[in-house]
Amino acid sequence: MRVHVANLLEATAHTLEVAGRLDLGCLDGPGVPTVLATAVEVRAKLSATGRGVLVVGEAGTVGVWECSRCLVRYEHPLAARFSVEFRPPGEETPEDGPDGREVQTFTGQWVDLLEVIRQSLILDMPMKPLCREDCLGLCQECGGNLNQGSCPCARGGDPRWQALGRLLDPK
Ligand SMILES: [Zn+2]
Ligand SMILES: [Zn+2]
Repeated sequence: MRVHVANLLEATAHTLEVAGRLDLGCLDGPGVPTVLATAVEVRAKLSATGRGVLVVGEAGTVGVWECSRCLVRYEHPLAARFSVEFRPPGEETPEDGPDGREVQTFTGQWVDLLEVIRQSLILDMPMKPLCREDCLGLCQECGGNLNQGSCPCARGGDPRWQALGRLLDPK
Protein backbone atom coordinates (compact mmCIF):
# COMPACT_ATOMS: atom_id res chain seq x y z
CA MET A 1 0.00 0.00 0.00
CA ARG A 2 1.98 2.96 -1.27
CA VAL A 3 1.08 6.57 -0.63
CA HIS A 4 2.30 9.48 -2.70
CA VAL A 5 3.71 12.05 -0.27
CA ALA A 6 5.16 14.70 -2.60
CA ASN A 7 2.67 17.30 -1.32
CA LEU A 8 3.75 16.68 2.26
CA LEU A 9 7.45 16.84 1.43
CA GLU A 10 7.01 20.06 -0.53
CA ALA A 11 4.90 21.45 2.33
CA THR A 12 1.97 22.23 0.05
CA ALA A 13 -0.10 20.11 2.44
CA HIS A 14 0.34 19.49 6.17
CA THR A 15 -1.71 16.35 6.49
CA LEU A 16 -3.11 13.70 4.22
CA GLU A 17 -5.73 11.11 5.06
CA VAL A 18 -5.94 7.82 3.26
CA ALA A 19 -8.25 4.84 3.52
CA GLY A 20 -8.24 1.63 1.59
CA ARG A 21 -8.44 -2.12 1.55
CA LEU A 22 -5.52 -4.51 1.32
CA ASP A 23 -6.01 -8.09 0.22
CA LEU A 24 -3.26 -9.94 2.09
CA GLY A 25 -4.82 -13.41 1.92
CA CYS A 26 -2.92 -14.68 4.92
CA LEU A 27 -0.44 -13.54 7.56
CA ASP A 28 2.59 -15.30 9.03
CA GLY A 29 1.96 -15.05 12.75
CA PRO A 30 3.39 -16.86 15.77
CA GLY A 31 2.22 -20.28 14.58
CA VAL A 32 1.06 -21.52 11.21
CA PRO A 33 0.08 -18.86 8.64
CA THR A 34 -3.28 -17.36 9.54
CA VAL A 35 -5.86 -17.14 6.78
CA LEU A 36 -7.71 -13.84 6.66
CA ALA A 37 -11.44 -14.05 6.05
CA THR A 38 -11.71 -10.46 4.86
CA ALA A 39 -9.55 -7.80 3.24
CA VAL A 40 -7.64 -5.54 5.63
CA GLU A 41 -9.36 -2.19 6.14
CA VAL A 42 -6.80 0.56 6.57
CA ARG A 43 -7.15 4.19 7.63
CA ALA A 44 -4.13 6.38 8.10
CA LYS A 45 -3.23 9.99 8.63
CA LEU A 46 0.05 11.25 7.25
CA SER A 47 1.68 14.47 8.38
CA ALA A 48 4.83 16.34 7.46
CA THR A 49 7.49 16.36 10.20
CA GLY A 50 9.98 18.64 8.47
CA ARG A 51 12.44 15.80 7.92
CA GLY A 52 10.01 13.18 6.77
CA VAL A 53 6.49 11.85 7.12
CA LEU A 54 4.70 10.62 10.25
CA VAL A 55 2.05 7.98 9.63
CA VAL A 56 -0.52 7.10 12.30
CA GLY A 57 -3.27 4.70 11.48
CA GLU A 58 -5.29 1.62 12.18
CA ALA A 59 -5.89 -1.64 10.39
CA GLY A 60 -8.59 -4.24 10.91
CA THR A 61 -9.48 -7.61 9.48
CA VAL A 62 -10.85 -11.02 10.51
CA GLY A 63 -8.58 -14.01 10.98
CA VAL A 64 -9.40 -17.71 10.90
CA TRP A 65 -7.79 -19.82 13.62
CA GLU A 66 -7.88 -23.39 14.85
CA CYS A 67 -8.59 -23.54 18.58
CA SER A 68 -5.56 -24.94 20.40
CA ARG A 69 -7.81 -26.94 22.76
CA CYS A 70 -10.77 -28.24 20.74
CA LEU A 71 -9.32 -27.86 17.21
CA VAL A 72 -12.48 -26.16 15.95
CA ARG A 73 -11.92 -23.44 13.34
CA TYR A 74 -13.21 -20.04 14.37
CA GLU A 75 -13.05 -16.45 13.16
CA HIS A 76 -11.90 -13.57 15.31
CA PRO A 77 -11.31 -9.90 14.49
CA LEU A 78 -7.82 -8.42 14.46
CA ALA A 79 -7.41 -4.74 15.15
CA ALA A 80 -4.13 -2.87 15.21
CA ARG A 81 -2.84 0.66 15.51
CA PHE A 82 0.44 1.71 14.03
CA SER A 83 2.66 4.73 14.21
CA VAL A 84 5.78 5.07 12.09
CA GLU A 85 7.94 7.89 10.93
CA PHE A 86 9.47 7.71 7.47
CA ARG A 87 12.72 9.59 7.06
CA PRO A 88 15.19 10.00 4.25
CA PRO A 89 18.19 7.61 4.36
CA GLY A 90 20.90 8.70 6.81
CA GLU A 91 18.41 10.13 9.30
CA GLU A 92 16.92 6.89 10.50
CA THR A 93 18.82 6.40 13.80
CA PRO A 94 16.31 4.50 15.96
CA GLU A 95 16.96 6.59 19.10
CA ASP A 96 15.60 9.56 17.16
CA GLY A 97 12.12 8.14 17.35
CA PRO A 98 10.19 9.89 20.14
CA ASP A 99 8.20 7.56 22.45
CA GLY A 100 9.93 4.56 20.91
CA ARG A 101 8.09 5.20 17.70
CA GLU A 102 9.25 3.13 14.81
CA VAL A 103 11.42 4.87 12.23
CA GLN A 104 11.78 3.66 8.67
CA THR A 105 13.55 5.09 5.66
CA PHE A 106 12.10 6.01 2.35
CA THR A 107 13.38 7.46 -0.87
CA GLY A 108 11.55 9.29 -3.61
CA GLN A 109 7.98 10.50 -3.20
CA TRP A 110 6.25 7.38 -1.92
CA VAL A 111 6.00 5.65 1.43
CA ASP A 112 5.03 1.99 1.57
CA LEU A 113 2.73 1.07 4.48
CA LEU A 114 2.43 -2.64 3.68
CA GLU A 115 5.10 -3.93 6.07
CA VAL A 116 4.02 -1.62 8.92
CA ILE A 117 0.44 -2.83 8.59
CA ARG A 118 1.47 -6.45 8.36
CA GLN A 119 3.68 -6.25 11.47
CA SER A 120 1.06 -4.40 13.53
CA LEU A 121 -1.58 -7.04 12.74
CA ILE A 122 0.82 -9.87 13.63
CA LEU A 123 1.37 -8.25 17.05
CA ASP A 124 -2.38 -8.49 17.67
CA MET A 125 -2.46 -12.21 16.94
CA PRO A 126 -3.05 -14.68 19.79
CA MET A 127 -0.05 -16.77 20.89
CA LYS A 128 -2.41 -19.57 21.87
CA PRO A 129 -5.66 -19.37 19.87
CA LEU A 130 -8.79 -20.28 21.83
CA CYS A 131 -12.31 -20.39 20.37
CA ARG A 132 -13.42 -18.97 23.74
CA GLU A 133 -11.67 -18.27 27.05
CA ASP A 134 -13.29 -21.23 28.82
CA CYS A 135 -13.05 -23.73 25.95
CA LEU A 136 -13.34 -27.21 27.48
CA GLY A 137 -11.28 -28.89 24.79
CA LEU A 138 -11.50 -32.51 23.71
CA CYS A 139 -12.20 -35.60 25.80
CA GLN A 140 -8.95 -37.48 26.44
CA GLU A 141 -10.74 -40.78 25.95
CA CYS A 142 -13.02 -40.45 22.93
CA GLY A 143 -11.85 -37.19 21.37
CA GLY A 144 -15.35 -35.72 21.60
CA ASN A 145 -15.69 -31.92 21.78
CA LEU A 146 -16.63 -31.22 25.41
CA ASN A 147 -18.06 -27.80 24.44
CA GLN A 148 -20.88 -29.65 22.67
CA GLY A 149 -22.10 -31.39 25.81
CA SER A 150 -20.80 -34.35 27.73
CA CYS A 151 -19.45 -37.30 25.77
CA PRO A 152 -20.33 -40.99 26.45
CA CYS A 153 -17.31 -41.28 28.75
CA ALA A 154 -18.60 -38.55 31.05
CA ARG A 155 -22.04 -40.18 31.20
CA GLY A 156 -20.93 -43.77 31.73
CA GLY A 157 -17.46 -43.41 33.08
CA ASP A 158 -14.34 -44.72 31.39
CA PRO A 159 -15.28 -47.02 28.44
CA ARG A 160 -12.52 -49.46 29.42
CA TRP A 161 -14.19 -49.96 32.82
CA GLN A 162 -17.56 -50.38 31.07
CA ALA A 163 -16.09 -53.24 29.04
CA LEU A 164 -14.79 -54.80 32.23
CA GLY A 165 -18.20 -54.34 33.85
CA ARG A 166 -19.81 -56.43 31.11
CA LEU A 167 -17.48 -59.29 31.93
CA LEU A 168 -18.42 -59.31 35.56
CA ASP A 169 -21.33 -61.42 36.70
CA PRO A 170 -23.79 -59.09 38.41
CA LYS A 171 -25.09 -61.89 40.70
ZN1 LIG B 1 -11.97 -24.47 21.55
ZN1 LIG C 1 -15.22 -38.93 25.91
